[in-house]
Amino acid sequence: MARDTEMEHLHPLFRQKVELLLQDLAKAKLPFRMFEGFRSPQRQHDLYCQGRTKPGAKVTNADAWSSLHQYGVAADFVLYIDGKWSWDDKGERKAWWKKLHQLALQHQLEPLSWELPHLQLQQMQLAQLRAGKYPADGDADWAENLQHAIATWRGTPGAPPMPLAASGRPPLPANAPEPQSPATTPNSTARLATVTARDGLRLRAGPGTQFDIKTTLRSGQQVYVLASSGDWSQIDIEGDGLADGYCHSGYLAVNS
Ligand SMILES: [Zn+2]
Repeated sequence: MARDTEMEHLHPLFRQKVELLLQDLAKAKLPFRMFEGFRSPQRQHDLYCQGRTKPGAKVTNADAWSSLHQYGVAADFVLYIDGKWSWDDKGERKAWWKKLHQLALQHQLEPLSWELPHLQLQQMQLAQLRAGKYPADGDADWAENLQHAIATWRGTPGAPPMPLAASGRPPLPANAPEPQSPATTPNSTARLATVTARDGLRLRAGPGTQFDIKTTLRSGQQVYVLASSGDWSQIDIEGDGLADGYCHSGYLAVNS
């Protein structure tokens, strides 16, 4: 599965920082280029299977939707010398990689100690992204690409909730049939609902009891239901349009 180097597939916050970094690298005459930006969940899963169910050495510990590359907020930078990619970090080149990381940090791009080429948007938390809490101000280019990845994903673990572009435009109708995985159904109209569980209702990080409990909603509390799938509803507590977690739908009375 091919690498993606489209700048448009990166979240605009991240994209802008990557563009500044590339300018800095050019000024410093350091021959780094973006090797890979957005990575589809299919490609992530293929890479994850290497060294596990497929031949080869292990290349990643992250399965589908568990790498920040799937959300357009991470990219890998590799040396490109004489028409060839190089991961060489020996001799004088050791200092080049160090300089890459220094320049990256100036733009709030965070390196990982165990993966030299990888840079990600600072303060991103995977659990938040998986719960559909995406960075603000996503544009249509970024959102449509992620929506497509979500709509075409058939595997496990399930896809995160659909992102919305900053314009407030609802997600494009997916051309593909609905995924079999426990993904939520996109729903652009949030519905107000009341918690009816006497002892409160657990809000979880994902649609199932295997997910961590994030908080407990009070009996009688009013929340917004962003989407429902099976027994589970995706909840927005503050009404800011961003998902906060998932609750069992059986203890929510939708206000009519
Ligand atoms: Zn990476």
